Amino acid sequence: MSEAPGTRLPYLSSRLQGFGTTIFAEMTRLALAHDAVNLGQGFPNFDGPDFVKRAAIEAIEAGQNQYTRSFGIPDLNRAIAEHQRRFWGLDYDPDAEITVTTGATEAIFATLQALCEVGDEVILFEPYYDSYRASVSMAGARERLVALRPPDFAYDRAELEAAFGPRTRAILLNTPHNPSGKVYGRAELEHIAELCRRHDVLAITDEVYEHLVFEGEHVSLASLPGMRERTVVISSLGKSFSFTGWKVGHACAPPALTRAIRSAHQFITFCNSGPFQPAAAAAYRAPDDYFTQLRADYRARRDRLCTGLAEVGFGVIEPAGTYFVQTDIRPLGWEDDVAFCQMLPEKIGVAAIPTSVFYDQRRDGRHLVRFAFCKTLDVIDAGLERLQKLRA
Ligand code: PMP
Ligand code: GLN
Repeated sequence: MSEAPGTRLPYLSSRLQGFGTTIFAEMTRLALAHDAVNLGQGFPNFDGPDFVKRAAIEAIEAGQNQYTRSFGIPDLNRAIAEHQRRFWGLDYDPDAEITVTTGATEAIFATLQALCEVGDEVILFEPYYDSYRASVSMAGARERLVALRPPDFAYDRAELEAAFGPRTRAILLNTPHNPSGKVYGRAELEHIAELCRRHDVLAITDEVYEHLVFEGEHVSLASLPGMRERTVVISSLGKSFSFTGWKVGHACAPPALTRAIRSAHQFITFCNSGPFQPAAAAAYRAPDDYFTQLRADYRARRDRLCTGLAEVGFGVIEPAGTYFVQTDIRPLGWEDDVAFCQMLPEKIGVAAIPTSVFYDQRRDGRHLVRFAFCKTLDVIDAGLERLQKLRA
């Protein structure tokens, strides 16, 4: 059963009213019902590396099946610290500054629970990843939204400056950014950092697509001057290792922030799944070649999908990062992304995600539809072939 956004449900607390069923679950349901090629919800149709799978199987067989240390098995915390240093030049103490969580989703939830008082404000950019607003609401906080406007998804500096106020507790930033494919540039991040320092605001960064950058570079906000001490860096295994169902995530932050996050985390899940933690440690120690190949493979998928969508007649906004591409449906004669995405699985046999659902100001995204390219080339081609029917 699924609920449309805005539907009021009996029993449900006011903190969760109105969010509806996530669009990802809804579109995957339609894809299954109509046997459509699912270019909607972002999950790979292939597995991650064998050496990571083997590590999980070995851990199960070796009996690593009980609760673990609440904030992660020591070797995983060490592997995450090594990864942060190797790629982003960030130094974290594995025992005092890293918390292993059940995916980035729990890291975000626990961080907001830990840091926000009721009535605090959290600045979010829209379009936002859908769990952010629900997590802010469940923490009793309120969101302040700042728009990223297509086609370049830049934000207005004055609009962001005006969002900082006396109740601002934190800004939650996602780069590379889902659903736009934007990678925040250094100048934007310096501006955001300057505002955080000036207003003494914390930053929470969601970097789950850190290894999927095709243009420019991934810069972690925590690496800018004066930011490490006020930033919680969040990421997870899902996208970088193509195991989205494993849900191994982490939050890296200085000791006082980490103690606060762990206070929440211990009562949310206590710890993450035992045998997947040694496997995640093996993954984070993958050689540089692994990450280079991952990016090259995704670049090829991006190029194939973008070229094909442009041939069908979509306006294509080529993504600098992530595994999503935004398309403008107006050249195909459509105005409304939700109607388009409801029609697509049944009539065309493809599923995609309407972008306006990630905006409070829905009109900012009404002409945009997101397609995922975390799929093998044959699946991308099968989707493109079906989409040819839109050309008529
Ligand atoms: N943040 C963003 C921007 C995402 O796209 C996702 C992907 N589902 C998540 C967080 C959740 O990550 P995880 O599956 O590790 O909880
Ligand atoms: N991050 C995935 C996406 O954006 C979806 C994750 C989910 O279904 N919760 O498509």
